[in-house]
Amino acid sequence: MSTAVPAPATPAGTLPMVEVRAVHKSFGALEVLRGIDLQVRTGEVAVVLGPSGSGKSTLLRTINHLEKVDSGRISVDGALVGYRRSGDKLYELREREILKQRTHIGFVFQNFNLFPHLTVLDNITEAPLAALRRPRKDVLATARALLDRVGLADKADAYPRQLSGGQQQRVAIARALALEPKLLLFDEPTSALDPELVGEVLAVIKDLARQGTTMIVVTHEIGFAREVADTVVFMDGGRIVEQGPPGQVLDHPRHERTKSFLSKVL
Ligand code: ADP
Ligand code: MG
Repeated sequence: MSTAVPAPATPAGTLPMVEVRAVHKSFGALEVLRGIDLQVRTGEVAVVLGPSGSGKSTLLRTINHLEKVDSGRISVDGALVGYRRSGDKLYELREREILKQRTHIGFVFQNFNLFPHLTVLDNITEAPLAALRRPRKDVLATARALLDRVGLADKADAYPRQLSGGQQQRVAIARALALEPKLLLFDEPTSALDPELVGEVLAVIKDLARQGTTMIVVTHEIGFAREVADTVVFMDGGRIVEQGPPGQVLDHPRHERTKSFLSKVL
């Protein structure tokens, strides 16, 4: 595959890319996040597991400020998400500033969310043409290189409806990468796919992991977690019940709830 897209320079190390501290979030009377603490270092892959309704999507959405937290703090690459600090005061960022901050965080959804009326190439170039002050020629070249990287170089002019689910999701990944994010968030990227298409999407995500992309991946694919995760995080009832290396959490879970969940998905 193409080498035209540079891999992030920082190897897995000690710098925290994501820091979530004491985050609480309720929807009305329902407390969905009940004190979440999570750190993901630069170059690491965190895989988040947990039953439906445990707060996984909400956690991802707070990290790019699609949901506002009620209390606690989140920072990405050292910058507070959604806020600016001035002295000892915090000010909420304006919509424009929030959008700018969000361009550094790629989000891949379960249902691809491609623009149906745009070609594959236009899906990928739309945001970077608007957000990155780059010559159109360069944006196009990068988009083509990304398509090559996800194995879809020949689909540039196709429309989403002409692609399989797996192909659409690979376009969605290329689109997320086009903004050169510091961090990629995946919310059940293979859950909407027919089983035979899951592998091609996971292969692309594995390739990104090998190149040192920092990612948080919500998935029920335990084999993928075992192979790719640096950290496995198990959530239940709005809390992180247990987290650690895959060999620990998946093979020697300490908590009953983790054991019971794993016995159902394995
Ligand atoms: P998961 O991704 O682990 O399945 P979610 O984070 O989507 O869990 O949801 C956690 C809980 O929060 C669920 O009970 C869900 O119905 C509720 N919830 C999520 N988003 C909203 C919202 N915007 N308004 C009200 N309730 C919500
Ligand atoms: Mg979810």
